[in-house]
Amino acid sequence: MSILMLDKLVPEHIQNFEPYFPSKPDTVLMSLFGVETLYRLNNNENALGPPPGVHRVIDDFVPDMVPVYPNGDCFFLKEKLAFKFNKSPDQFLVGNGSCEVISSVIKAFCMKGDNIITADKTFAVYEWVARFSGVEVKLIPLKDFRFDPDAMLDAMDEMTKIIFICNPNNPTGTYWDMDTMTRFLKAVDQRCIVVIDEAYFEYVDKKDYPDAMQLMETFSNVVAFRTFSKMYALAALRIGYLCSSPDVVDMVRRTHIVYSVNTPAQQAAAAAITDDTDFIAATRKMVKDARDLLCPFFDDLGLSYLSGQGNYIMVRTPISDTLLYRMLMKQGIMVRTMTGFRFPNWIRISLVQQPVMTAFVNAFQEVISSVSD
Ligand SMILES: *Cc1c(COP(=O)(O)O)cnc(C)c1O
Repeated sequence: MSILMLDKLVPEHIQNFEPYFPSKPDTVLMSLFGVETLYRLNNNENALGPPPGVHRVIDDFVPDMVPVYPNGDCFFLKEKLAFKFNKSPDQFLVGNGSCEVISSVIKAFCMKGDNIITADKTFAVYEWVARFSGVEVKLIPLKDFRFDPDAMLDAMDEMTKIIFICNPNNPTGTYWDMDTMTRFLKAVDQRCIVVIDEAYFEYVDKKDYPDAMQLMETFSNVVAFRTFSKMYALAALRIGYLCSSPDVVDMVRRTHIVYSVNTPAQQAAAAAITDDTDFIAATRKMVKDARDLLCPFFDDLGLSYLSGQGNYIMVRTPISDTLLYRMLMKQGIMVRTMTGFRFPNWIRISLVQQPVMTAFVNAFQEVISSVSD
C-alpha cells in the first residue's frame, strides 16, 4: 500500500485555507464553564422566537412527512415571496441559509483568475467561499467603520465579477443610504454583479435606507440577499434566499443544489412572512429597549461602542476579548469575540429581552471591576 499524497491531490488554495471552527454545543460549554444556564448573545438570534404561524407549521410536521423529498424549488414559498414583494417567482432562489446562496453566486460568476471585492471587516462568508473556490478576494478597509464606496470602485478591474456589500454591515451596524448606494451603482455601471446582503433588513427603520429589491428595477446587476435566520428566528431550519432579475437568477440556479431546503423550513418561512407586522414591531421594540439600556451603561464606563442598525452592538473592551469571553461565560453569558472579524479586543452583543440584558450588564460590570482592582 502506498501513502496517500494529499498535498498532490488537494489544490493549493484549499491547503492554504484556514478552516473556521464553530463553537461547541451549548451543553458542552455549560459543563465546561460550570453554569446551569447560558444566554446566547453571540449570534444575533431573535430571542423572541419565531412568529406565531411558525409554531403551527412545526407542530403539524409529523413523521409521515419525513420520507418525502421536499419540493426541489420551494414552489409555494417563492409564490408567497413574489406576492409579498411584488415580483415574479422566477426572481427568487432559496437556499439552505443565505450562506448557500453566497456559494451559488460565487460559483455562477467566478473562475480562477477572477476576483470579488468586499470590506475587510464584514460578514466573513463572502471571503471564505471565494478563497476556498480559488477566487481572489480584494478586501477594502472600512472608513469610519463603514464600507468605502470610492475605494471599492478604485479596486475594480476587468476580472472583478462580484462586489459584496453588507447593508447594514455586520458587525459595525453602519449602512449606505439611498444616495450613496445609487451613486455607487451608477459608477459600477453594470460592469459586475453587486450583491447587497440585507440579512438585517427587517430591523432597519430608517427612511433613507435603500431597499435592494427596489434598486434592482433600475439596476439589473443587483442581487439582494435576505435570510429567515435573524428577524424571523428560523436559524435552526437553515433558510435564506436571493432575489434578482430573472436572467441573473437563471444563471445562478445552474450552480445551486436542488433539494437543499427541507420541507419544514419551506413551510415555516412561508408562515413567517404571513401577517408579520406585529411580530416585527415587537422585535424592534425589544431591540430598541436593549439599546437604550446598553448605550448609557457603556457611556458610564467610558467605553467606545458602535450602535447602529441590526439587533447587535459592538463594544471595545478594556481587556482582551478572549479573556472577557471566558469570564462572562463563567457567569452564563456568551458574547462574540471580534478578533476573528479583525476587530481585536471588541465584542459583539445581540440585543434581546430586558432581563437578559440586565444579566449581561451585571456580569460585565462585575468582570470589569474584578480586573481593574
Ligand atoms: C447571519 C447572516 C447571514 C446569514 O445567514 P444564514 O446562512 O441565512 O443563516 C448572512 N449575512 C449576514 C451579514 C449575516 O449576519
